[in-house]
Parts: sequence; C-alpha cells; structure tokens
Amino acid sequence: MAIDLHVHSTASDGTEPPAGVMRAAAAAGLDVVALTDHDTTAGWAEAGVAAREAGVTLVPGAEISCQVHGIGVHMLSYLHDPAHPALLAELSRTRHDRLDRARRMVRQIGHDYDLSWEHVLEHVGDDATVGRPHIADAMVARGLVASRDEAFATVLHNRSRYYRPHHAPDAAVVVRAIRAAGGVAVMAHPRAGRRGRVVADAVIADLAAAGMAGLEVDHRDHDAGDRVALRAMAGELGLLPTGSSDYHGTGKLNELGEFTTAPEVLEALVALGTGAEVVRP
Ligand code: AMP
Ligand code: FE
Ligand code: FE
Ligand code: ZN
Repeated sequence: MAIDLHVHSTASDGTEPPAGVMRAAAAAGLDVVALTDHDTTAGWAEAGVAAREAGVTLVPGAEISCQVHGIGVHMLSYLHDPAHPALLAELSRTRHDRLDRARRMVRQIGHDYDLSWEHVLEHVGDDATVGRPHIADAMVARGLVASRDEAFATVLHNRSRYYRPHHAPDAAVVVRAIRAAGGVAVMAHPRAGRRGRVVADAVIADLAAAGMAGLEVDHRDHDAGDRVALRAMAGELGLLPTGSSDYHGTGKLNELGEFTTAPEVLEALVALGTGAEVVRP
C-alpha cells in the first residue's frame, strides 16, 4: 500500500487541477492520496469524482496556515467537516488576508519589475488560495526569473524587501477548531528550517496536549537527523508519524509518493476523523 498524505492542486499553489492530481497519483502507483491545499477545501468535490474514476482512495484534507508567537506553522487537517463554522471562519479570514498581502507585495515588486496584479491573476485558479508561488509563476511567464525556485531564492524570499507576512491564526486555536470539526490535526514539516524559523520541541508538546494527533516525520525538507528526532518525539508524545511528498505539480521538485505513510498509521488516522468521509474507489 502506497499512501501519500500531503499534495496540492490548483485550488491553492499546485500546478495541476484536483482531478489531474488524482490521475497523476494513480499513475504514480499510489493507493491512497490526501488532497491538502493551503487554507481551502475547494478541491475536494472534483478530487472525489476523479479519485473514484482513477481507482485511488482520497483522504480529504487541508494545510492550514497558523503561527505560534510569530513563527509560521502549517497544520494538516484530515477528514474535518468543511462546513464547520469556526474552522470556516479562520480559513476565510486567512484567504482574504493572503489576497491583500499578495496585492501589496506585487505593488512593491511592480516598482522595480515589469509586473502587475493582472499578470499574477492569470496564474491563480478560480477560488484558489493565493500565495507567493502564483507571483513566482507570473514572473517566470514574463521572463523575470527562470523558475519558482529562483523567485523564492530572490524576490519572494522571507527576508526579501518585498516580503510581507499574512494573517495566520494561533496553532492551538486551529488544532481545537480541527478537533471540533471532527478532523485530525498533523503538523506539516515541523523541522523545515530552510523556509524560516521552526518551533521548539516544547511547542509541539503543547500542541499535542491541545489535541494534535500526528507529526509529519518523513518529508524532503527534513534531513536524516530531523527524521530520527521527530520519530522519537512522536513516540514519546503518542503522535502518529506520517510521511508525504508535499507534491505541487511542476511547481516544485517533490515527486508523488517520494515519502509515504504506513498503513497502520493511516488506519489510526481514519479512525479518529469523523467530520468527512474517505472516498474509496
Ligand atoms: P506563501 O504561502 O504565499 O507564504 O508561500 C509559501 C508556499 O510557497 C509554500 O506553501 C510552498 O509550497 C511554496 N514554496 C516555498 N519555497 C518554494 C520554492 N523554492 N519553490 C517553489 N515553491 C516554493
Ligand atoms: Fe505550497
Ligand atoms: Fe507547508
Ligand atoms: Zn504543503
């Protein structure tokens, strides 16, 4: 059983529509895939239909932007009720502020580069959560940079003069909202330090106490030492250890199924999730 619990589509910053991601997952030999777009569940319906057709099992999810004392945290949520008011309100506020923030960043970038908001919008899917990757795509299309990667290494870097943060709710608040919505909270890439600061181990323990159920241990942004440390921490705190690709289509090097989750971990996770149904072929 090949199980990949973290992939993105054009509902956020992936480059393939939800149906295309499901077909790609089947073609890559995956049995189970979780669609986890940033701050949205807009891709679930299309993904569900396509997953059935492609013969792959879909675990509906999302990757929710949050923060702890200003440090960014991505919280994966699986099988939550997408209509739960508290969670819906948090996601909608974040998406609106992401839009504002992207416009402000593009206005600043536009003073120095031939780039406008209209250029960026051409790369944002209908109802999609807007992020820096869409700005990167517009810059690539206009020949200003060669790739998303180059854009992130320069103009879009966290320490770039053009960078702006966006609103993100407190991680413990999000964990409790996920639980209230019948979902299962798993911290995404807890040690992905290349992107900026990561939270202390004590924060992970606090979030476990708040009801977080798992840690994404195996991920390309973790080195071997990170994985050993995270697996040990998951064991000590009683958290489910997951592994996933964080696939973004052609937007990143991450390949579907490059890291996977054990079947018994998936089984435990599905047993905890009561807000939405797994879609089986
Ligand atoms: P944002 O959510 O707008 O702050 O942008 C962060 C998103 O950009 C993350 O979710 C990543 O998927 C993506 N990202 C970060 N670094 C890179 C990179 N070097 N190349 C492509 N995508 C990236
Ligand atoms: Fe992303
Ligand atoms: Fe992430
Ligand atoms: Zn992700």
